[in-house]
Amino acid sequence: MKSLITPGDKTVALIEVADPKPIAGEILVAPIYAGVCATDIEVINGELDPDFVVYPATLGHEWCGRVVGHGPGVSEPAIGSRIVVTGLIPCKTCFECLAGATNRCLTYSEIGFTRPGAAAELVTVPAFLAHVVADSVSNETAVLAEPTAVVTQAFTNANPKPGAKILIVGDGTIAMIAASLAKTFQPSLVHMLGLKPGQAEMAKRAGVDAFLTEPTEQRYDIIIEAAGSMERITGAIKQLVRGGTLVLVGYTGFGNMTPIMVDSVINGEIKILGSFASTVKAWATAVELMNSGKLDLSYLVTHKFPLADFAKAIDALKNAPAPRGKVALVISA
Ligand SMILES: [Zn+2]
Ligand SMILES: [Zn+2]
Repeated sequence: MKSLITPGDKTVALIEVADPKPIAGEILVAPIYAGVCATDIEVINGELDPDFVVYPATLGHEWCGRVVGHGPGVSEPAIGSRIVVTGLIPCKTCFECLAGATNRCLTYSEIGFTRPGAAAELVTVPAFLAHVVADSVSNETAVLAEPTAVVTQAFTNANPKPGAKILIVGDGTIAMIAASLAKTFQPSLVHMLGLKPGQAEMAKRAGVDAFLTEPTEQRYDIIIEAAGSMERITGAIKQLVRGGTLVLVGYTGFGNMTPIMVDSVINGEIKILGSFASTVKAWATAVELMNSGKLDLSYLVTHKFPLADFAKAIDALKNAPAPRGKVALVISA
């Protein structure tokens, strides 16, 4: 089979490798779509925290697929089921897993980072982490299950109260999904602070009340930083109300630092939280939102390329003019 593999030296190639065989407890899946994102670029460039990736890495952590085989002892989901799969694989026995914080499992293992991802013609995954996608859910929505779970995790950490004023920083996929999910918490307003005016129309569809390209005098209860912008992180402290919460989701590159106005953080009792990947529970919530029809993200996939055209997909991710949403590789129908 063909597999999109990077050694982390700024190169990536479609390489012929042996078909994977599902071991006990695993299923064999034929990916349908695999999204590419800025984190994949960091994996290709070797810019990710080295504790969170094993090279050579097969890309593909945002994806949906169809079950085509069962390993020993597995009968579910049935062959032919369309599924998405919790990306971060919990050991189920460490104290973090037992407390439900499976995203902090002591034996970190994640599809597309430490074990082969779905930017390939076949992938094996643990059967117990598969979620069956309802027939009513488009492949375009299903391929966004992973970033939706990441956003669900961020909101779990942010814990917005009804009536909250929420700012989403960024105008990429995570930011758009965050705007859509924010609405489910009955906020009094949702603003997006983006970079590209061409993303404004998509942000409106995502449900924002206003799309801004410069900070205003408005203060917010919760800011979700999904741009990985040093300048925006520093500036966010001034945009929070006292007691407000800043949740960091956008990576800025391993080792990079940004100044924080410490006195303002203390005086304002500002909470600065990191939100890492997503738990099994966040995945279940994300899939439930999709399967119930409450979250249709079909509009967000703006660019699709066959797997063989991965270079064009990566180029679109870096350079396509706005409006640009999710760039996806089409692997099978
Ligand atoms: Zn991603
Ligand atoms: Zn664990």
